[in-house]
Amino acid sequence: ILSSILYADKLEDIKKAGVLKAGVKYDFKPFGFISKSGNVVGFDIDLIKYIAKKLEVPVKFEQVTSKNRIPMIVTGEIDIAAASMTQKRSRDDVIDFSISYFFDGQAMLVLNEEKATNYEGFVDKKVGAIKGATSGENFKKLQPKAKIIYFEEYPQAVLSLKNAKIDAITTDLVWCVTQAKDSKGKLKVLEQVLSYEPYGMGISENESNFRDFINNAIQDSVTDGTYEKLYLKWFDKKPEKLPEVWPK
Ligand code: GLU
Repeated sequence: ILSSILYADKLEDIKKAGVLKAGVKYDFKPFGFISKSGNVVGFDIDLIKYIAKKLEVPVKFEQVTSKNRIPMIVTGEIDIAAASMTQKRSRDDVIDFSISYFFDGQAMLVLNEEKATNYEGFVDKKVGAIKGATSGENFKKLQPKAKIIYFEEYPQAVLSLKNAKIDAITTDLVWCVTQAKDSKGKLKVLEQVLSYEPYGMGISENESNFRDFINNAIQDSVTDGTYEKLYLKWFDKKPEKLPEVWPK
């Protein structure tokens, strides 16, 4: 027992277990969502599949939400979260992050008939945000006179917006743009960028070998062209900014 405590190593444990338990979103298209055929798909899912191939183990995908993804890493229910998660110093207290693998910023999703064009126009208005996401707190700082309405998951917020029970949803731009596109003209995006949201994969604290493995795999996906291929597949354009690649 003592030796397993002293030499516990997540990377070895995963290989021994023969499975990578990966936490992904089911409600954040195009990063993680359920396809028409009922499979979990998206940019985060494809990156995890790439990493698992390098690890030579199959993946078991677990659904996470913005709220429970960090606790699920801490308890070990999942080995890694690739879940549209912004890396922040405050979040780094209890987990570790990989290098950044995607770069976004917060925007607003509104009804097509919305007159306001930026956050200044949301005094006394209801702005939806998801529990555990960065967006509610960020917005409150910019516009303290807005009323932030919190939801457990994204689909509930979208339904509420479509029924005009709230005036906006604030979260990362790429999700907002995707929702607007899928709404057939009902929703639009206010593209004013309200924050910087670099995504990192979340892993347990102090697992240096595992973190190196993940960081190397992300970098390999850039150098072998997979990253750009997946980016094109899910975002329909070439990446403006690539994850950092360290010299060999
Ligand atoms: N990237 C933001 C965050 O980590 C918003 C997206 C999400 O809810 O996952 O909080």
